[in-house]
Amino acid sequence: MAQEFAEQFRQDSAVKSFDKGHRELMRVNTEKYLARLEEGTNKFVDLQNSKKKTHLLKWKTLENLDRYLLDFEANFTRRGGKVIWANDAEEARQEILRIIEQQDARSVLKATSLLCDEIDLLNYLQKNKVDVAETDFGAFVLDLLQEKPYHMVNRTLHLEFELIAKLFHEKYGTPADATAEQLANAVREIMRPKYMHTEVGITGANFLLADTGSIAITENEGNARLITAFTKVHIAVAGIDAVIPSLLDLGLFSPLWSSHAYGQPSAVYNTIVNGPRQAHETDGPEEMYVVLIDNGRTDLLAEKEQRQGLYCIQCGACAQVSPVYQLIGGHTYQSVYPGPIGALITPYIRGKKDFNHLSFASPLSGKPDQVCPVNIALDKMLLLNRKDAIEQRLVPQTERKLWQGFAYFMERRRLLDFFGGKTKNFFLRNFFKKLWGKHRELPSLPQKSFSQQWREQQKKKN
Ligand code: SF4
Repeated sequence: MAQEFAEQFRQDSAVKSFDKGHRELMRVNTEKYLARLEEGTNKFVDLQNSKKKTHLLKWKTLENLDRYLLDFEANFTRRGGKVIWANDAEEARQEILRIIEQQDARSVLKATSLLCDEIDLLNYLQKNKVDVAETDFGAFVLDLLQEKPYHMVNRTLHLEFELIAKLFHEKYGTPADATAEQLANAVREIMRPKYMHTEVGITGANFLLADTGSIAITENEGNARLITAFTKVHIAVAGIDAVIPSLLDLGLFSPLWSSHAYGQPSAVYNTIVNGPRQAHETDGPEEMYVVLIDNGRTDLLAEKEQRQGLYCIQCGACAQVSPVYQLIGGHTYQSVYPGPIGALITPYIRGKKDFNHLSFASPLSGKPDQVCPVNIALDKMLLLNRKDAIEQRLVPQTERKLWQGFAYFMERRRLLDFFGGKTKNFFLRNFFKKLWGKHRELPSLPQKSFSQQWREQQKKKN
């Protein structure tokens, strides 16, 4: 299986890299994103200082994760909420289904959540005959097309607006030349009645606040807020790394997230939910659960260096500026987390054997490091992942042998010079051409090696 994922990645990368339409789409998207990012981050008096602070706060949290998670649980349960700890995706899915079945519900409302995507909740619930209504526009469109998200935040980044308008025209009779507003209204008309009749709602949580036992949700469409207000039972799904020490820290994390995700100083809807409805409150769910998911995160936490991957606040900025992501797009990664952060954490979440190849798919350009709002040293972490993969013998045997052979010859100059250019070119043509790829011209080596030519030149000079 390990090689299946890697081979698929190679094949899809080769196709996407030479798809001119895709390259143009990604070029335009990157330009737009960079302009928005500049606008959003210009509002910070001292952006670098804010990034340093969030890095430190995340460091402090991860070094004391057990304490902060227990604080969160104690404070959340004090007001009647229930925390469910899930070791992996399967446990999380089963627990969520169990809550839905306890309510005798056959339908749920769902807001966009990366964690729900990570555990493949939509498919699981649909297979178990639960009708899932995606409330956010992007997720709604992807569900119609039966496609996976292309980016952590900009989920439909790969879809041209005209294609979505055509889809809605054919399916819901909206004008063929409908505006974005008309399409959003169409979704609203379909979704709003469902809020009145659906009893269970599922959202993500951008942050878990340890000192107040609350969840913080940051969004632009307001659907998660509606879910928390309308449904009888609210299930929030979060990774154990979503916890931050205090409500006060939101003042730093929230604008950093929205400026790097959307280029906005603040997202349109920022909601803090403290638990189920209290006796004196007029709205909110009667029951509230937070499903806390590990799913490989403690394995990453055990890595002294790479645990920095857990500092991520999932803004998606590193993917937007990554030269590889721009070239091969989001689906090629076969992970909810594309781009450099995905290359770093996916081997832990979905298994090193199957996904360690992602850590090698980066030119280590430094751009993602520069843009990250939490100052994660992505390039360094990817290098460490590579080192581990080699030490743990996770790279294919043929590749290992190839490099061993290369090192053997490179360390023995005489042996290397023993063969002339013709013989070396013969080997290159017959054994490396496929590896080199059909889109690049195989270099032709000169008859004499560099050291031979150098020696001859020196002789002449003397
Ligand atoms: S690694 Fe940094 S830039 Fe990338 S998604 Fe996470 S927080 Fe954003």
